[in-house]
Amino acid sequence: MKVKQHIPNPLRFTLQDFAKRFPNNNACLEHLKEKRFPGGITYCAKCKQERKHHRVTGRPAYACDYCGKMISPMAGTIFEKSSTSLRTWFYAMYLMGSTRCGISAKQIQRETGVTYKTAWRMFNQIRSLLSDGDLQLEGATVEVDETYFGGKRKYGTGRPMRGDKTKIPIVGLVQRGGKVVARVIQGVTADELTFVIKKHVVPGSVIYTDEYPSYERSKTLKGSDGKSLGYKHYQIRHKARVYVDGDIHTNSIDGFWSVIKRGIGGVYHSVSPEYLQTLTCPPFLVQS
Ligand SMILES: [Zn+2]
Repeated sequence: MKVKQHIPNPLRFTLQDFAKRFPNNNACLEHLKEKRFPGGITYCAKCKQERKHHRVTGRPAYACDYCGKMISPMAGTIFEKSSTSLRTWFYAMYLMGSTRCGISAKQIQRETGVTYKTAWRMFNQIRSLLSDGDLQLEGATVEVDETYFGGKRKYGTGRPMRGDKTKIPIVGLVQRGGKVVARVIQGVTADELTFVIKKHVVPGSVIYTDEYPSYERSKTLKGSDGKSLGYKHYQIRHKARVYVDGDIHTNSIDGFWSVIKRGIGGVYHSVSPEYLQTLTCPPFLVQS
């Protein structure tokens, strides 16, 4: 059987797209306002009623037309109280988002011109936001697979066995043509795997995995109301050297692992367990 190699590509948003969309701090602030207050700021907390707002000259804020009470779209975000310009923040986010997380704080320093200390702080804050723990995959076709990072294997290759305690298991879920969730788990037990599946996969989805028995519970999973979640589960028989059987394959998630492992090898060199969750973080876009 011929195996089609699947290499995921990020949906392209080029540097030129970025420069056009976010030419200056004002454009970034407008964007932030639209994200936080879709359709504009319409309510004044002081007047306690709907009011029109206007941009305050010289400050990153908007004010009530009637009483002048100011509101900043940066309040309560990582940008609040930062002396770094909003556009520099946006540029750092663009760099991290467009390079599959494979960019270091050092590179952010070089690209944006901030000090290393500032770059490191921005890097960590952006990274912490990228790990959206509650992301729900919107697509109805999901591939699930686990892999292992770090440490040395005590017993040869294949799935780690007892004694391979330094290996960190990670489960990854890819919505074909869409987002990826990757989570560090305690162990590759049916309980751990099904917890993650229930959390991130929309009821009624089709789930593709390999033949690992811990996934078999997927098709009988129930929601908190006791009703079936209606997952359809298909397994590809890798042991029988079958890699693609019609729609049944795990090529998207396999491609994701190879990108992540290359990224970790190239940029982070080695990773301690507590950082791994944030490194595998970004709900990250692939093409089917
Ligand atoms: Zn007001």
